[in-house]
Amino acid sequence: MPHDGVPDVRVAGLRKSYGDVVAVDTIDLEIAPGEFFTMLGPSGSGKTTTLRMIAGFETPDEGTIELAGEDVSSLPPYDRPVNTVFQDYALFPHMTVQDNVEYGLMVKKVKKGERRQRAQAALEMVRLGGYGSRKPAQLSGGQRQRVALARAIVNRPKVLLLDEPLGALDLKLRQEMQIELKSIQREVGITFVYVTHDQEEALTMSDRLAVFNEGRIEQVGPPAEVYEHPQSEFIAGFVGVSNVIEGNGRRYTVRPEKINLVEDGREPRQGWHVEPGVVSDVQYVGPVTRYHVKLDRGGDLQVLSQNLQEGSSEVLETMGRRIRVEWRREQESTIDEPEGGTE
Ligand code: ADP
Ligand code: MG
Repeated sequence: MPHDGVPDVRVAGLRKSYGDVVAVDTIDLEIAPGEFFTMLGPSGSGKTTTLRMIAGFETPDEGTIELAGEDVSSLPPYDRPVNTVFQDYALFPHMTVQDNVEYGLMVKKVKKGERRQRAQAALEMVRLGGYGSRKPAQLSGGQRQRVALARAIVNRPKVLLLDEPLGALDLKLRQEMQIELKSIQREVGITFVYVTHDQEEALTMSDRLAVFNEGRIEQVGPPAEVYEHPQSEFIAGFVGVSNVIEGNGRRYTVRPEKINLVEDGREPRQGWHVEPGVVSDVQYVGPVTRYHVKLDRGGDLQVLSQNLQEGSSEVLETMGRRIRVEWRREQESTIDEPEGGTE
């Protein structure tokens, strides 16, 4: 954990099964106050179940959950200092935006004047200050999602739980909302626990992320660390694209953008791994070109090369050409989990 002191969320030995299916298989987590923390993993890896246990909608089979130092394991959802934002924002269609945001406060019997004020402040935080009198149908998908966010923020939870909140939006809007959501989080300072299966979203938004696989957490760390130093073959393949290479009795990964293509016959550089191969495929992708290289000793590599200047690329990019690949040895990340069955 990057901060000292009491974490906002602390989960220890958490486990949950449904019949024969172990949905969450003994996980531990600590999330610091104010963190944007993401649970990333493929569908069915246990993210939602974990979130629902933190919220109190599911009871763990084993383990404890502490929020801001208090064991909440036996508290019902409404007594926990958390709020949840789901993908289907479930706004009341017949109510105005303002009334939607006020609703939770009304249930808690907060007085009308304070309700108004807090709802307006929450709407301003999500940049919907002037939209209070509209109905949800008069808003775009992104705006509706921000109303859902305002409705959660207005309760001033310690921790906000978000389960694939942008999943229903199309790519462009989703990317805009990623930036928006991140800056809103920074402003309001609430701890976010964010669930997504989208690795780019996780890398873009998070202070730290936990990568889930089959109910377990395989790695926790800041985005750059998880991306640059994947600890398992699963992570190397799920978070970005990676090459898995075998050599000198070990398995390691090297990211495609860390590999250079150099002309055959050029002098090897100190501290670099160099070996010969043949370009087997070339794909021009606009900002980058993707090469597939067949190594002489067997195996395929992917190489990404930035197209910095028009016409600057060397003659290397022809298919069938003999080249060498090179990368700095420090770019190699050893995979400690041996995975049987592949090749
Ligand atoms: P994720 O959110 O990562 O997609 P989930 O936590 O929803 O994963 O699910 C983890 C596993 O638990 C899956 O195999 C899923 O089918 C199973 N599961 C989740 N909820 C239930 C439930 N209410 N009843 C039975 N199985 C469930
Ligand atoms: Mg889910």
